[in-house]
Amino acid sequence: MRLTSSSRPSTRGIKRIDLAYVQLASSEHARDINRDIVLEIIRSRQPISRADLARTSGLQPSTISAIVEQLLEEKWVTEGAVARRPRGRRPTLLSLNDELVILAADVRPQQAIVAVVDLNGRFLAREVVPLVSEPKRAILKMVERMEAMRVNHRDRSFEGVGISIPGRIDPESQRLILAPNLKWGNCDVKSVVEEKLHLQVELANAANASLLSELWSGKLDGVRDAVLVTVSEGLGAAILANGQIITSRNGLAGEFGHSPIDPSGPTCGCGQRGCWEVFASSSAALRYYAELNPKGRAVNIHDLLSMSEEGDPTAIAAVSRQASCIGRGLRLITAALAPEVILITGDITTSWPRFGPIIQAELENTMLAGRAPRLEITSDGELSRLRGAAAVVLQRHSGYRRSAPFVKKRGQR
Ligand SMILES: [Zn+2]
Repeated sequence: MRLTSSSRPSTRGIKRIDLAYVQLASSEHARDINRDIVLEIIRSRQPISRADLARTSGLQPSTISAIVEQLLEEKWVTEGAVARRPRGRRPTLLSLNDELVILAADVRPQQAIVAVVDLNGRFLAREVVPLVSEPKRAILKMVERMEAMRVNHRDRSFEGVGISIPGRIDPESQRLILAPNLKWGNCDVKSVVEEKLHLQVELANAANASLLSELWSGKLDGVRDAVLVTVSEGLGAAILANGQIITSRNGLAGEFGHSPIDPSGPTCGCGQRGCWEVFASSSAALRYYAELNPKGRAVNIHDLLSMSEEGDPTAIAAVSRQASCIGRGLRLITAALAPEVILITGDITTSWPRFGPIIQAELENTMLAGRAPRLEITSDGELSRLRGAAAVVLQRHSGYRRSAPFVKKRGQR
């Protein structure tokens, strides 16, 4: 974490005070912000003493003491090990409380991965649940596994449930408003899960969950502008602009996957024709393979990627075409947002040494001017959505890297 970059007013861009949304910094608001900063320093530098917290944050030792008391009382942190010092008082060190855990789920078209995650992002349990297509039955199946996990970890305190969904979520009502690849329609996932588990549930779009996971891991420390692209059945994107995740008021920001690139292209799950997604998703790679090899057996994306790793020329041609469509479509992102970093996550990243350079070359070819953004893949691929789903619950409490729907005061729904 870089306090200097996040606490210093931005010197780039134009600052505008919008009187319609202005929130005056009341002493309560300032206290909340300081509490979030202290919790984040503990999370990233634990174990840490109160004196080091004061030095790192620049807050007064008395302010630190008051905030730490509150965090201890709320059980977010624990006080444990004693620091070794050559002389003088030996301070006790503060860490995040390992006893607090979160139930997390990563929902995908045919399956969900459910897990128990602690405040440090460690997985205590994880399993795959096959899902039926009917949404309510699918959700109940997932909840059943979560209940079993809770029983198996009854010595822990469950703080909430975070669910990552490949769709867009209304920031106000938390209802699913669009999930073309899941085909769940407008569905109240949150209420169904809350009613069964009696825990507060937070939903996150899968791309935003992955981006939050990257922020949580510290991989984007110092980066203010980044775009993460998820490549799976569909193509999602999440935007970090000036250090904030942008979701927009209606939760629909970042739908680059549904920007039309060819009006005569195939029909997309959203109902339009020729979206970037129908050319660049994992489903597109499978379609290219079927076109090149019409008599071949049906394969899934994992088969296709392992066939290409084994040197199958048709598989390589299909995935190369997908990679070049991913790269060309990145023009939408560089032209709109000019981020410092573009992160790719999803199936194709498992064969990154083979297909990454194709994406990189297309990205460089399509730049209007200047250097292309840094192109990287996410650190823990498959697990980033799951870890991000857990981070959403933590964010609700701590305001960690607050984004638009989370700036409400804690406890306010
Ligand atoms: Zn579309």
